[in-house]
Amino acid sequence: MTSFLSVPSALAPTGAVYSEVIPAGESWIHPLIKGQTLRIVDLEGNQAVDTLFYDAHDYADRYDFQNTIRAQGNIYLTTGSRLMSSKGNVLLTIVADTCGRHDTLGGACATESNQVRYALDKGHMHACRQSFLAALLKYGNGLEKRDIPNNINFFMNVPVTPEGGLTFEDGISEAGKYVEMRAERDVLGLISNCPQLNNPCNAYNPTPIQVLVWDADVS
Ligand SMILES: [Zn+2]
Repeated sequence: MTSFLSVPSALAPTGAVYSEVIPAGESWIHPLIKGQTLRIVDLEGNQAVDTLFYDAHDYADRYDFQNTIRAQGNIYLTTGSRLMSSKGNVLLTIVADTCGRHDTLGGACATESNQVRYALDKGHMHACRQSFLAALLKYGNGLEKRDIPNNINFFMNVPVTPEGGLTFEDGISEAGKYVEMRAERDVLGLISNCPQLNNPCNAYNPTPIQVLVWDADVS
C-alpha cells in the first residue's frame, strides 16, 4: 500500500471546548468561529465522512471543490490544503492530517446514484445527500436542497489512474486517524457520516466518528 505523509497535531483532546461522537449514518451541523480548530477522528477506521462548509454569514459562499483543486494544483486534500469557497475565499485550512489523503471528486452518495451504481432496489437505502438535506432543514435559516454543493469525502480513497480514471477503493485510513482544520472565517460545518453499504470506501461497514473543536487561544 502507498504510504502518505502523516502530520500530527499538537492539540490535546483534554483542551477541546467541544467533543461529540457521530454514530454511523448520522449527520452533524455546527458553527465554527474564525480561529477555531476542528478535528474529525476516524474512530474505527475506513469510514467515509462527507463534509461541507458554508460561510456562516453568507450561505451562498460555500465549499467549492473546483476552486479548491485549482488553488492548490492538486486533486487530493491533505495538510496545507486550503478549502476554498465559491466566491474565492479560504474557509478553512487543513493543519494536521494523520491519514494523508482525502477525496473531493467522488461526491456524496444519493438514493439516485445508489440505484445507478448498484441496483434499482438500493433506492430506498439511506444516503448522504438525504442526511445533508435532513440536517439543513432541521437547522433552518433557509438552507435547503439547492444549498448542497459537491462535498469533501474525508478518509475516502478515490484514486485517479494515470489515464484519468476515477476509482473507489478500499480505504487508506485506520482506527484513530484524524484530519484537523482551522477556520479562517466564521463557518458552518455540515457532516454526513456516510451510511453507504454498497462500496468499499468504508469497508461496507459504516462506523462512528468523533468531532472535536478547540478555541484559537488553546494549544
Ligand atoms: Zn455517503
